[in-house]
Amino acid sequence: MGRIEELTEEVVRLFKNSGYEVDRRDVYNRLKLLIEEFKVPEDEAMRTVKNYLMKELDVSREQLIMESPLVKVADIKAPGQWVSLKAKVVQLWDSSSPNVSQVGLIGDETGIIKFVIWAKANKPQVEEGKCYLFANVVTDSFGGRMQVNVNRNSRIEEIDEDIQLPPKELEIVGALIAIQQNSGLIKRCKLCNRVLTKGVCPIHGQTESYDDLRVKGVIDDGENYYEVILNEENVRDLTGIGLEEAKEIAMENLDRTAVLSELKNRLLGRYYRLRGMRGQRYLLVSEIEFLKADVRKEGEEILGG
Ligand SMILES: [Zn+2]
Repeated sequence: MGRIEELTEEVVRLFKNSGYEVDRRDVYNRLKLLIEEFKVPEDEAMRTVKNYLMKELDVSREQLIMESPLVKVADIKAPGQWVSLKAKVVQLWDSSSPNVSQVGLIGDETGIIKFVIWAKANKPQVEEGKCYLFANVVTDSFGGRMQVNVNRNSRIEEIDEDIQLPPKELEIVGALIAIQQNSGLIKRCKLCNRVLTKGVCPIHGQTESYDDLRVKGVIDDGENYYEVILNEENVRDLTGIGLEEAKEIAMENLDRTAVLSELKNRLLGRYYRLRGMRGQRYLLVSEIEFLKADVRKEGEEILGG
């Protein structure tokens, strides 16, 4: 694309972002005349053409600098869209191209996307771990993956928000060193699924409920502690105690907390290999198994039984 075409596109896009269609050929001819015939500097030629169009279309300067819609990373699916997004700089890569000022990854809670800040954009440098509003950036696709490009019409502004990144999958090997009291056979609110405490939902108060089985615990892998949540399926896979069996144990003992005692006996202090998604606080376990190397304990159980 020639320089005049580039500038033409810039003008067309600027007006299009604000909802105005302009005649591309007309813009091109005006810019060409000003720059090539009259030797007017680019900036001044652009200003002249923009002013002319604003007058023609009766558009105010304020209307023109209106920002592109705020989207989430996961919403970016097609190239050539003007968008704004709030994101955290996840990683900066080395760039060998003189045309690129910065390149790397940015993300929000819905996903991670590559970004490129063109040298021509003339923007301040962003830093890893900081959060920014990337206003008026253009979506693009490269090698089958989406990215966003920061150009001269974009704006980067540091923001005082801690944007969360998408949960990460982890695999850890460690010991279950604690099980919290609100584990075992629990009741959940029918309206919001929250766990009831003494029959009361923190949001809905006294409400209809249903039974569920879960274990909230702490895994220690020797370096970190992970707060984990095992769902009914995880608990059943490990112990053979599913929801139905748990209800039977509660009935036989006339005590729901008997389930918790039984699970503690079977699960505490043992070693596991587990995989799960790390959320804000908890690791939501997708797969968990006893560590095969835990033969000493298996042996003890056999002897004890
Ligand atoms: Zn509720």
